[in-house]
Amino acid sequence: MWDLAAGILACILVAAATESTPEAAARAANPAAPASAVVGQALAPWSEGYLDIHHINTGRGNAAFFIFPDGTSMIFDAGALEDDWGRNVAPLVLGLALPNPSRRPGEWIADYIDQFKRPGMAGIDYALISHFHADHYGRVQFTSPASAHGNWKLAGITDVAERWPLGTLIDRDYPAYDFPVAQRGTKDKSLSNYFRFADGLATSGRSKVERFAVGRDDQIVLKYDPERYPTFSVRNIAANGAVWTGSGSASRNVLDVGQIADGKGKFNENPLSLMIRLDYGDFDYVTGGDTTGVHTPDQPEWFDMESKIAPVVGEVDALSLNHHGNRDATNADWLRALQPRIIVQQTWTSDHPGGDVVARITSKTLWPGQRDIFATHIQEPTKIAIGPWLTRNYRSMDGHVVIRVQPGGGAYDVYILDDRSTDRKVKAHFGPYQSRQ
Ligand SMILES: [Zn+2]
Repeated sequence: MWDLAAGILACILVAAATESTPEAAARAANPAAPASAVVGQALAPWSEGYLDIHHINTGRGNAAFFIFPDGTSMIFDAGALEDDWGRNVAPLVLGLALPNPSRRPGEWIADYIDQFKRPGMAGIDYALISHFHADHYGRVQFTSPASAHGNWKLAGITDVAERWPLGTLIDRDYPAYDFPVAQRGTKDKSLSNYFRFADGLATSGRSKVERFAVGRDDQIVLKYDPERYPTFSVRNIAANGAVWTGSGSASRNVLDVGQIADGKGKFNENPLSLMIRLDYGDFDYVTGGDTTGVHTPDQPEWFDMESKIAPVVGEVDALSLNHHGNRDATNADWLRALQPRIIVQQTWTSDHPGGDVVARITSKTLWPGQRDIFATHIQEPTKIAIGPWLTRNYRSMDGHVVIRVQPGGGAYDVYILDDRSTDRKVKAHFGPYQSRQ
Protein backbone atom coordinates (compact mmCIF):
# COMPACT_ATOMS: atom_id res chain seq x y z
CA MET A 1 0.00 0.00 0.00
CA TRP A 2 1.38 3.37 -0.92
CA ASP A 3 1.32 6.08 1.65
CA LEU A 4 0.58 9.72 0.96
CA ALA A 5 4.03 11.05 1.87
CA ALA A 6 5.74 8.62 -0.51
CA GLY A 7 3.31 9.56 -3.27
CA ILE A 8 3.97 13.27 -2.80
CA LEU A 9 7.73 12.70 -2.70
CA ALA A 10 7.56 10.70 -5.92
CA CYS A 11 5.67 13.53 -7.60
CA ILE A 12 8.25 16.08 -6.46
CA LEU A 13 11.05 13.91 -7.80
CA VAL A 14 9.28 13.49 -11.15
CA ALA A 15 8.74 17.25 -11.39
CA ALA A 16 12.37 17.98 -10.53
CA ALA A 17 13.62 15.51 -13.12
CA THR A 18 11.53 16.96 -15.95
CA GLU A 19 13.84 19.85 -16.82
CA SER A 20 16.75 17.64 -17.88
CA THR A 21 14.73 15.39 -20.17
CA PRO A 22 15.27 14.85 -23.90
CA GLU A 23 11.88 16.54 -24.35
CA ALA A 24 13.15 19.71 -22.67
CA ALA A 25 16.20 19.62 -24.93
CA ALA A 26 13.97 19.12 -27.97
CA ARG A 27 11.80 22.05 -26.95
CA ALA A 28 14.89 24.24 -26.55
CA ALA A 29 16.03 23.18 -30.02
CA ASN A 30 12.63 24.00 -31.51
CA PRO A 31 11.75 27.47 -30.25
CA ALA A 32 9.36 27.93 -33.18
CA ALA A 33 6.90 25.68 -31.36
CA PRO A 34 6.73 26.93 -27.76
CA ALA A 35 4.47 24.92 -25.49
CA SER A 36 1.99 27.73 -25.00
CA ALA A 37 1.74 28.94 -28.59
CA VAL A 38 -1.26 26.91 -29.63
CA VAL A 39 -3.22 26.88 -26.37
CA GLY A 40 -6.53 28.63 -26.85
CA GLN A 41 -6.39 28.28 -30.61
CA ALA A 42 -7.66 25.66 -33.02
CA LEU A 43 -5.30 22.77 -33.72
CA ALA A 44 -3.53 23.39 -37.02
CA PRO A 45 -4.86 21.15 -39.80
CA TRP A 46 -3.13 17.87 -40.59
CA SER A 47 -0.62 18.15 -43.42
CA GLU A 48 1.33 15.73 -45.58
CA GLY A 49 3.91 13.67 -43.72
CA TYR A 50 2.26 13.93 -40.28
CA LEU A 51 0.62 11.06 -38.43
CA ASP A 52 -2.37 12.23 -36.37
CA ILE A 53 -3.99 10.04 -33.70
CA HIS A 54 -7.15 11.55 -32.21
CA HIS A 55 -8.67 9.89 -29.13
CA ILE A 56 -12.17 11.37 -29.30
CA ASN A 57 -14.16 11.87 -26.12
CA THR A 58 -17.94 11.68 -26.45
CA GLY A 59 -18.24 10.43 -22.86
CA ARG A 60 -20.04 7.40 -24.25
CA GLY A 61 -17.46 4.93 -25.55
CA ASN A 62 -14.19 4.60 -27.44
CA ALA A 63 -13.34 6.23 -30.74
CA ALA A 64 -9.97 7.02 -32.27
CA PHE A 65 -9.41 8.68 -35.64
CA PHE A 66 -6.12 8.43 -37.53
CA ILE A 67 -4.66 10.24 -40.50
CA PHE A 68 -1.58 8.45 -41.80
CA PRO A 69 1.36 10.34 -43.38
CA ASP A 70 0.04 10.10 -46.95
CA GLY A 71 -3.53 11.02 -45.97
CA THR A 72 -4.95 7.52 -45.58
CA SER A 73 -7.57 7.63 -42.81
CA MET A 74 -8.74 5.11 -40.25
CA ILE A 75 -11.16 4.93 -37.35
CA PHE A 76 -10.56 2.44 -34.56
CA ASP A 77 -13.89 1.88 -32.77
CA ALA A 78 -16.89 4.20 -32.68
CA GLY A 79 -18.74 3.38 -29.49
CA ALA A 80 -22.05 4.81 -28.35
CA LEU A 81 -23.87 4.22 -25.09
CA GLU A 82 -26.94 6.15 -24.06
CA ASP A 83 -28.53 7.10 -20.75
CA ASP A 84 -30.63 3.91 -20.59
CA TRP A 85 -27.42 1.85 -20.45
CA GLY A 86 -26.20 4.08 -17.65
CA ARG A 87 -29.32 3.38 -15.63
CA ASN A 88 -28.65 -0.35 -15.99
CA VAL A 89 -25.30 -0.08 -14.22
CA ALA A 90 -26.19 2.39 -11.46
CA PRO A 91 -24.64 3.45 -9.14
CA LEU A 92 -21.82 3.54 -11.68
CA VAL A 93 -21.97 6.88 -13.46
CA LEU A 94 -21.80 7.11 -17.23
CA GLY A 95 -19.80 10.02 -18.62
CA LEU A 96 -21.44 13.25 -19.68
CA ALA A 97 -22.70 13.24 -23.27
CA LEU A 98 -20.18 15.57 -24.93
CA PRO A 99 -19.97 18.16 -26.26
CA ASN A 100 -23.71 18.17 -25.51
CA PRO A 101 -26.64 15.74 -25.76
CA SER A 102 -28.19 17.35 -28.84
CA ARG A 103 -26.69 14.67 -31.10
CA ARG A 104 -25.91 10.98 -30.74
CA PRO A 105 -22.32 9.98 -29.87
CA GLY A 106 -21.72 8.61 -33.38
CA GLU A 107 -22.90 11.87 -34.90
CA TRP A 108 -20.41 13.76 -32.74
CA ILE A 109 -17.63 11.41 -33.82
CA ALA A 110 -18.52 12.13 -37.46
CA ASP A 111 -18.60 15.85 -36.70
CA TYR A 112 -15.20 15.69 -35.03
CA ILE A 113 -13.76 13.94 -38.09
CA ASP A 114 -15.24 16.68 -40.27
CA GLN A 115 -13.19 19.25 -38.34
CA PHE A 116 -9.87 17.38 -38.40
CA LYS A 117 -10.07 15.44 -41.65
CA ARG A 118 -7.51 15.50 -44.41
CA PRO A 119 -8.39 18.37 -46.77
CA GLY A 120 -10.58 16.97 -49.51
CA MET A 121 -11.34 13.74 -47.65
CA ALA A 122 -14.53 12.11 -48.98
CA GLY A 123 -14.57 8.95 -46.83
CA ILE A 124 -12.71 6.99 -44.18
CA ASP A 125 -10.40 4.41 -45.73
CA TYR A 126 -10.46 1.89 -42.88
CA ALA A 127 -12.85 1.30 -39.98
CA LEU A 128 -11.82 -1.24 -37.35
CA ILE A 129 -14.14 -2.55 -34.66
CA SER A 130 -12.03 -3.99 -31.86
CA HIS A 131 -14.74 -6.30 -30.51
CA PHE A 132 -18.48 -6.61 -30.22
CA HIS A 133 -19.30 -4.50 -27.19
CA ALA A 134 -21.48 -1.45 -27.72
CA ASP A 135 -19.03 1.01 -26.17
CA HIS A 136 -16.90 0.15 -29.22
CA TYR A 137 -19.48 -0.02 -32.02
CA GLY A 138 -22.78 1.49 -30.80
CA ARG A 139 -25.88 0.57 -28.81
CA VAL A 140 -29.18 0.62 -30.67
CA GLN A 141 -32.24 2.03 -28.93
CA PHE A 142 -35.93 2.26 -29.84
CA THR A 143 -35.32 5.84 -30.81
CA SER A 144 -32.37 5.10 -33.11
CA PRO A 145 -33.23 6.31 -36.63
CA ALA A 146 -32.99 4.11 -39.70
CA SER A 147 -30.13 4.35 -42.16
CA ALA A 148 -30.80 5.79 -45.61
CA HIS A 149 -28.53 3.12 -47.08
CA GLY A 150 -29.88 -0.17 -45.75
CA ASN A 151 -31.84 -2.09 -43.13
CA TRP A 152 -29.90 -1.03 -40.07
CA LYS A 153 -30.28 1.67 -37.44
CA LEU A 154 -27.91 4.46 -36.55
CA ALA A 155 -25.73 4.22 -33.45
CA GLY A 156 -21.96 4.47 -33.14
CA ILE A 157 -20.13 3.16 -36.20
CA THR A 158 -23.30 3.14 -38.30
CA ASP A 159 -23.79 6.84 -37.52
CA VAL A 160 -20.21 7.53 -38.60
CA ALA A 161 -20.70 5.52 -41.80
CA GLU A 162 -23.89 7.42 -42.59
CA ARG A 163 -21.80 10.61 -42.79
CA TRP A 164 -18.48 9.16 -44.02
CA PRO A 165 -18.45 6.27 -46.52
CA LEU A 166 -16.09 3.55 -45.30
CA GLY A 167 -13.50 2.09 -47.66
CA THR A 168 -12.97 -1.15 -45.75
CA LEU A 169 -14.71 -2.28 -42.56
CA ILE A 170 -12.64 -4.77 -40.57
CA ASP A 171 -13.80 -6.70 -37.52
CA ARG A 172 -12.71 -9.82 -35.73
CA ASP A 173 -15.03 -12.33 -37.32
CA TYR A 174 -16.73 -11.30 -40.59
CA PRO A 175 -18.49 -13.03 -42.32
CA ALA A 176 -19.09 -16.16 -40.24
CA TYR A 177 -19.52 -14.53 -36.84
CA ASP A 178 -19.20 -17.93 -35.24
CA PHE A 179 -16.18 -17.59 -32.95
CA PRO A 180 -16.23 -18.77 -30.27
CA VAL A 181 -19.95 -19.59 -30.75
CA ALA A 182 -22.49 -18.94 -33.49
CA GLN A 183 -23.72 -15.36 -33.08
CA ARG A 184 -25.72 -14.64 -36.20
CA GLY A 185 -28.93 -15.60 -34.43
CA THR A 186 -28.19 -13.34 -31.47
CA LYS A 187 -31.07 -11.67 -29.64
CA ASP A 188 -28.83 -8.69 -28.93
CA LYS A 189 -30.46 -5.89 -30.98
CA SER A 190 -27.26 -3.89 -31.23
CA LEU A 191 -25.15 -6.80 -32.40
CA SER A 192 -27.72 -8.04 -34.92
CA ASN A 193 -27.95 -4.46 -36.20
CA TYR A 194 -24.18 -4.39 -36.66
CA PHE A 195 -24.30 -7.70 -38.58
CA ARG A 196 -26.97 -6.27 -40.91
CA PHE A 197 -24.76 -3.22 -41.40
CA ALA A 198 -21.65 -5.27 -42.27
CA ASP A 199 -23.62 -7.55 -44.60
CA GLY A 200 -25.34 -4.58 -46.21
CA LEU A 201 -22.09 -2.75 -46.90
CA ALA A 202 -20.61 -5.86 -48.48
CA THR A 203 -23.56 -6.88 -50.62
CA SER A 204 -24.24 -3.36 -51.86
CA GLY A 205 -20.58 -2.84 -52.70
CA ARG A 206 -20.67 0.38 -50.68
CA SER A 207 -17.63 -0.86 -48.68
CA LYS A 208 -15.36 -3.85 -48.50
CA VAL A 209 -15.80 -5.88 -45.32
CA GLU A 210 -13.01 -8.11 -44.06
CA ARG A 211 -12.04 -10.32 -41.16
CA PHE A 212 -8.98 -9.04 -39.30
CA ALA A 213 -5.99 -11.16 -40.33
CA VAL A 214 -3.63 -11.62 -37.37
CA GLY A 215 0.08 -11.30 -38.17
CA ARG A 216 -0.21 -9.37 -41.40
CA ASP A 217 1.15 -5.90 -42.10
CA ASP A 218 -0.50 -5.60 -45.51
CA GLN A 219 -4.19 -5.55 -44.59
CA ILE A 220 -4.09 -1.90 -43.50
CA VAL A 221 -1.78 0.03 -45.82
CA LEU A 222 -1.08 3.49 -47.11
CA LYS A 223 -3.43 3.99 -50.04
CA TYR A 224 -2.19 7.19 -51.66
CA ASP A 225 1.62 7.42 -51.58
CA PRO A 226 3.17 4.38 -49.88
CA GLU A 227 6.53 4.71 -51.63
CA ARG A 228 7.08 8.06 -49.98
CA TYR A 229 6.71 6.66 -46.44
CA PRO A 230 8.48 3.29 -46.37
CA THR A 231 8.93 3.33 -42.58
CA PHE A 232 5.17 3.47 -41.92
CA SER A 233 3.28 0.24 -41.27
CA VAL A 234 0.32 -1.19 -39.38
CA ARG A 235 0.90 -4.66 -37.94
CA ASN A 236 -2.05 -6.81 -36.95
CA ILE A 237 -0.90 -8.09 -33.55
CA ALA A 238 -3.74 -10.15 -32.08
CA ALA A 239 -7.42 -11.15 -32.18
CA ASN A 240 -9.61 -14.13 -31.35
CA GLY A 241 -6.90 -15.65 -29.17
CA ALA A 242 -4.36 -15.66 -32.01
CA VAL A 243 -1.13 -13.69 -31.67
CA TRP A 244 1.52 -12.66 -34.20
CA THR A 245 4.67 -14.75 -33.75
CA GLY A 246 7.00 -11.83 -34.50
CA SER A 247 8.15 -13.50 -37.70
CA GLY A 248 6.71 -12.76 -41.13
CA SER A 249 2.94 -12.80 -40.99
CA ALA A 250 2.66 -16.02 -38.96
CA SER A 251 0.41 -16.27 -35.92
CA ARG A 252 -0.24 -18.83 -33.23
CA ASN A 253 -3.32 -19.62 -31.17
CA VAL A 254 -2.99 -19.19 -27.44
CA LEU A 255 -6.47 -20.25 -26.45
CA ASP A 256 -8.91 -22.73 -27.88
CA VAL A 257 -12.59 -22.38 -28.45
CA GLY A 258 -13.44 -25.04 -25.91
CA GLN A 259 -11.93 -22.99 -23.12
CA ILE A 260 -13.53 -19.64 -23.63
CA ALA A 261 -17.25 -20.44 -23.95
CA ASP A 262 -19.18 -22.01 -21.10
CA GLY A 263 -21.70 -24.82 -21.54
CA LYS A 264 -24.45 -22.34 -22.34
CA GLY A 265 -22.44 -20.56 -25.02
CA LYS A 266 -21.67 -17.53 -22.87
CA PHE A 267 -18.24 -16.00 -23.11
CA ASN A 268 -16.28 -12.81 -22.51
CA GLU A 269 -15.62 -10.76 -25.66
CA ASN A 270 -12.79 -8.73 -24.22
CA PRO A 271 -9.88 -11.21 -24.54
CA LEU A 272 -10.80 -11.60 -28.24
CA SER A 273 -10.23 -7.92 -29.04
CA LEU A 274 -8.13 -7.09 -32.05
CA MET A 275 -4.89 -5.21 -31.51
CA ILE A 276 -2.68 -3.25 -33.90
CA ARG A 277 0.73 -1.60 -33.70
CA LEU A 278 1.55 1.45 -35.84
CA ASP A 279 5.17 2.16 -36.72
CA TYR A 280 6.43 5.37 -38.34
CA GLY A 281 10.20 5.74 -38.29
CA ASP A 282 11.19 5.43 -34.64
CA PHE A 283 7.66 6.13 -33.40
CA ASP A 284 5.37 3.27 -32.40
CA TYR A 285 1.88 3.10 -30.92
CA VAL A 286 -0.31 0.22 -29.88
CA THR A 287 -4.06 -0.03 -29.30
CA GLY A 288 -6.06 -3.14 -28.48
CA GLY A 289 -9.67 -2.56 -27.46
CA ASP A 290 -10.53 -4.32 -24.23
CA THR A 291 -7.77 -6.95 -24.30
CA THR A 292 -7.47 -8.46 -20.82
CA GLY A 293 -4.34 -9.12 -18.82
CA VAL A 294 -4.88 -9.88 -15.18
CA HIS A 295 -5.66 -13.37 -14.07
CA THR A 296 -6.63 -13.99 -10.51
CA PRO A 297 -7.57 -17.24 -8.76
CA ASP A 298 -11.18 -16.79 -9.89
CA GLN A 299 -10.24 -16.56 -13.56
CA PRO A 300 -8.67 -19.03 -15.96
CA GLU A 301 -5.10 -18.65 -17.12
CA TRP A 302 -6.12 -17.86 -20.72
CA PHE A 303 -7.83 -14.68 -19.54
CA ASP A 304 -4.35 -13.12 -19.45
CA MET A 305 -3.78 -12.26 -23.12
CA GLU A 306 -1.41 -9.36 -22.48
CA SER A 307 1.44 -11.52 -21.17
CA LYS A 308 1.31 -13.61 -24.35
CA ILE A 309 1.15 -10.58 -26.64
CA ALA A 310 3.70 -8.32 -24.92
CA PRO A 311 6.91 -9.98 -26.22
CA VAL A 312 5.97 -9.39 -29.87
CA VAL A 313 4.91 -5.80 -29.31
CA GLY A 314 8.10 -4.69 -27.54
CA GLU A 315 8.79 -1.12 -26.42
CA VAL A 316 6.42 1.55 -27.71
CA ASP A 317 6.34 5.31 -27.51
CA ALA A 318 2.62 5.50 -26.94
CA LEU A 319 -0.25 3.21 -26.09
CA SER A 320 -3.95 3.33 -25.47
CA LEU A 321 -4.70 1.49 -22.22
CA ASN A 322 -6.51 -1.77 -22.72
CA HIS A 323 -10.08 -1.96 -21.40
CA HIS A 324 -10.24 1.78 -20.53
CA GLY A 325 -7.79 1.25 -17.66
CA ASN A 326 -10.09 -1.29 -16.06
CA ARG A 327 -8.78 -3.46 -13.23
CA ASP A 328 -8.49 -6.67 -15.29
CA ALA A 329 -5.98 -5.30 -17.82
CA THR A 330 -2.60 -3.54 -18.06
CA ASN A 331 -0.65 -6.15 -16.14
CA ALA A 332 2.98 -6.01 -15.02
CA ASP A 333 4.31 -8.06 -17.97
CA TRP A 334 2.60 -5.69 -20.40
CA LEU A 335 4.14 -2.57 -18.87
CA ARG A 336 7.62 -4.07 -18.38
CA ALA A 337 7.72 -5.03 -22.07
CA LEU A 338 6.13 -1.91 -23.60
CA GLN A 339 7.54 0.81 -21.28
CA PRO A 340 5.31 3.49 -22.80
CA ARG A 341 6.39 7.14 -22.73
CA ILE A 342 2.80 8.24 -23.43
CA ILE A 343 -0.24 6.48 -21.94
CA VAL A 344 -3.74 7.38 -23.13
CA GLN A 345 -6.77 6.19 -21.24
CA GLN A 346 -10.08 6.24 -23.12
CA THR A 347 -12.59 6.57 -20.33
CA TRP A 348 -16.33 6.86 -19.94
CA THR A 349 -17.51 5.53 -16.59
CA SER A 350 -16.76 6.06 -12.92
CA ASP A 351 -14.81 2.82 -12.44
CA HIS A 352 -12.20 3.92 -15.01
CA PRO A 353 -9.38 3.54 -14.11
CA GLY A 354 -8.98 0.83 -11.51
CA GLY A 355 -6.86 1.94 -8.57
CA ASP A 356 -4.50 -1.00 -9.00
CA VAL A 357 -3.99 -0.04 -12.66
CA VAL A 358 -2.99 3.45 -11.53
CA ALA A 359 -0.46 1.87 -9.17
CA ARG A 360 1.03 -0.17 -12.03
CA ILE A 361 1.20 2.57 -14.66
CA THR A 362 2.90 4.93 -12.19
CA SER A 363 5.29 2.29 -10.81
CA LYS A 364 8.99 3.00 -11.32
CA THR A 365 9.63 -0.57 -10.20
CA LEU A 366 8.00 -2.02 -13.32
CA TRP A 367 10.00 0.31 -15.57
CA PRO A 368 12.14 3.28 -14.63
CA GLY A 369 11.45 5.57 -17.57
CA GLN A 370 9.45 8.75 -17.51
CA ARG A 371 5.87 8.56 -18.67
CA ASP A 372 3.06 11.05 -19.23
CA ILE A 373 -0.49 9.85 -18.65
CA PHE A 374 -3.59 11.38 -20.25
CA ALA A 375 -7.25 10.42 -19.85
CA THR A 376 -10.16 11.54 -21.97
CA HIS A 377 -12.27 11.90 -18.83
CA ILE A 378 -11.90 11.10 -15.13
CA GLN A 379 -14.98 11.57 -12.99
CA GLU A 380 -14.93 13.31 -9.63
CA PRO A 381 -16.02 10.18 -7.67
CA THR A 382 -13.09 8.32 -9.24
CA LYS A 383 -10.67 10.99 -8.07
CA ILE A 384 -12.15 10.79 -4.59
CA ALA A 385 -11.84 7.00 -4.52
CA ILE A 386 -8.27 6.73 -5.83
CA GLY A 387 -6.85 9.96 -4.50
CA PRO A 388 -3.60 11.79 -5.20
CA TRP A 389 -1.97 8.74 -6.75
CA LEU A 390 -4.30 9.43 -9.66
CA THR A 391 -4.72 13.20 -9.69
CA ARG A 392 -1.03 14.04 -9.22
CA ASN A 393 0.20 11.60 -11.83
CA TYR A 394 -2.10 12.35 -14.76
CA ARG A 395 -1.09 15.21 -17.04
CA SER A 396 -4.67 15.68 -18.19
CA MET A 397 -8.00 14.21 -17.09
CA ASP A 398 -10.46 15.84 -19.50
CA GLY A 399 -10.49 16.34 -23.25
CA HIS A 400 -9.76 14.78 -26.60
CA VAL A 401 -6.16 13.49 -26.61
CA VAL A 402 -4.30 14.02 -29.88
CA ILE A 403 -0.87 12.58 -30.63
CA ARG A 404 0.64 14.38 -33.64
CA VAL A 405 3.75 12.66 -34.98
CA GLN A 406 6.11 14.81 -37.00
CA PRO A 407 7.17 13.84 -40.52
CA GLY A 408 9.56 10.90 -40.41
CA GLY A 409 8.37 9.79 -36.98
CA GLY A 410 11.32 11.12 -34.99
CA ALA A 411 9.31 13.35 -32.67
CA TYR A 412 5.74 13.94 -31.62
CA ASP A 413 3.51 16.20 -29.54
CA VAL A 414 0.40 15.66 -27.44
CA TYR A 415 -2.47 18.12 -27.60
CA ILE A 416 -5.52 18.18 -25.35
CA LEU A 417 -8.59 19.60 -27.06
CA ASP A 418 -11.66 21.03 -25.35
CA ASP A 419 -14.41 18.39 -25.40
CA ARG A 420 -17.15 20.68 -24.03
CA SER A 421 -17.40 22.85 -27.11
CA THR A 422 -17.78 22.24 -30.81
CA ASP A 423 -14.79 24.34 -31.80
CA ARG A 424 -12.47 22.02 -29.85
CA LYS A 425 -9.71 24.49 -29.13
CA VAL A 426 -6.37 23.37 -27.72
CA LYS A 427 -6.44 23.31 -23.91
CA ALA A 428 -2.89 22.11 -23.37
CA HIS A 429 0.20 21.08 -25.28
CA PHE A 430 2.89 18.62 -24.19
CA GLY A 431 6.16 17.94 -25.96
CA PRO A 432 7.75 17.69 -28.36
CA TYR A 433 8.85 14.24 -27.33
CA GLN A 434 11.62 12.36 -29.06
CA SER A 435 10.65 8.92 -30.38
CA ARG A 436 12.84 6.17 -28.96
CA GLN A 437 15.00 4.14 -31.30
ZN1 LIG B 1 -14.98 -1.35 -23.66
